[in-house]
Amino acid sequence: QTPVHVIGGGLAGSEAAWQLANRGVPVILHEMRPERQTDAHQTEGLAELVCSNSFRSDNPETNAIGLLHEEMRRCGSLILAAGDRARLPAGGALAVDRHVFSDSVTQAVSDHPLIEVRREAIDALPPADWDSVVVATGPLTAPGLATAVQELSGADYLAFFDAIAPIVYKETIDFDKAWFQSRYDKDGNDGAKHAAGEGDYINCPFDQAQYERFIDALLEAETTKFQTWEKDTPYFEGCLPVEIMAARGRDTLRFGPMKPVGLTDPRTGERPYAVLQLRQDNALGTLYNLVGFQTKIRYKQQKEIFRLIPGLEEAEFARLGGLHRNTFINSPQVLDAHLRLKAAPRLRFAGQITGVEGYIESAAIGLLAGRFAATERLGEPHSPPPEATALGALLTHITGGGDPETFQPMNINFGLLPEIQPPAGQKKIKRKDKKPMLSRRALEALDAWLARDPAQAAAE
Ligand code: FAD
Repeated sequence: QTPVHVIGGGLAGSEAAWQLANRGVPVILHEMRPERQTDAHQTEGLAELVCSNSFRSDNPETNAIGLLHEEMRRCGSLILAAGDRARLPAGGALAVDRHVFSDSVTQAVSDHPLIEVRREAIDALPPADWDSVVVATGPLTAPGLATAVQELSGADYLAFFDAIAPIVYKETIDFDKAWFQSRYDKDGNDGAKHAAGEGDYINCPFDQAQYERFIDALLEAETTKFQTWEKDTPYFEGCLPVEIMAARGRDTLRFGPMKPVGLTDPRTGERPYAVLQLRQDNALGTLYNLVGFQTKIRYKQQKEIFRLIPGLEEAEFARLGGLHRNTFINSPQVLDAHLRLKAAPRLRFAGQITGVEGYIESAAIGLLAGRFAATERLGEPHSPPPEATALGALLTHITGGGDPETFQPMNINFGLLPEIQPPAGQKKIKRKDKKPMLSRRALEALDAWLARDPAQAAAE
């Protein structure tokens, strides 16, 4: 059988190769290290963890990442199996000994009779006779390949970003203070949609004293330090970190992203002194991002500072703001539902380069890309996981649900899963019950999906 080529032996590429080989499809895995290193990797091991040694919460009932762990275990994930083998005591989190973990992945992949590991960099588009390729080269993709992909997919579609804004769960916003309105009511949605508790923008009003206190907090905040290779990355003037804007002058934000023009607080009938706007972030309308609030303030302080915003006192964050170099494609625009590049379907993408964020999310997309490439090679029908699963929700986010205009890398979170309906006779589901219910529904849907998959039994 003709092999499938996997480029990049990180979290996603190792998982993709494993899934392919376990379905009987031969794989050639091309990894450039140790011949060439990235700015962050330090070893020659496959699936090296470049920073933290935590895969975050392992509890599927309370955390979407724990749910993703469990789903991946049920799909025969190599990354989760190696993680479980390398597990360290860490409360409810799955933390690992990074060397034991990487060694375990490296050995499993190298020992697999259907996987050949080649230590070489792929610096251009893969040769035309590679008819099925999984590109899993990560956020630090070597420049030659990154440029080739950029040219193929359209110059706008390979993004280098350096700042991300926090995202909050809509249900944790206090609508006794905040209200829906687009500036100058431009979205034409001030009627029915707002009455239904929906809209493209949510506004949080500041009076002068609240604004001054907020600016003080931003100016006092501690920021994360740049890594050496990040020092040369310029700020894009269009997306300056909010604390840098505040440092330019106390009114800079009030005349910038926090300008109140075109907005009227329905409780006072007046224009507030300043406004923080939140923009809908996912198709389901469960997540909203803080417009213009990209930041490199330390995580712990971000929560304290952003909860000073009127209406966000109790906010829970699906993602905090961050700043680091990253390479990702605009997946909703350029990938099809099988993770294939529309412009060149022989190329399939996996991992952080598809616009997911995090070790496990990257591996999860590797798992799906490997399974999709295998079914394609074996002539079986394409079978994506149900959207009610964490795997399906992540896939939908990058191939369909995310807005190409504002697409930004995303961790798995419960806000990406479709809403759950309250049981008959009940008006609303209590917040504390919601996550376990979403989790149970996801695992049932996953089991049903796996039961329909003829290759699953063979892989086990
Ligand atoms: P990687 O794991 O980076 O794997 C890509 C592989 O492709 C690498 O082995 C690389 O050597 C190889 N490669 C690249 N280009 C080529 C080429 N042209 N030819 C052949 N091989 C190539 N996530 C977290 O959950 N926790 C963290 O603490 C964390 N810290 C991070 C710190 C930094 C500095 C960065 C950049 C990212 C961090 N991430 C973190 C985000 C992300 O989860 C990791 O980057 C993760 O490793 C992504 O998995 P991946 O498989 O997509 O890419």
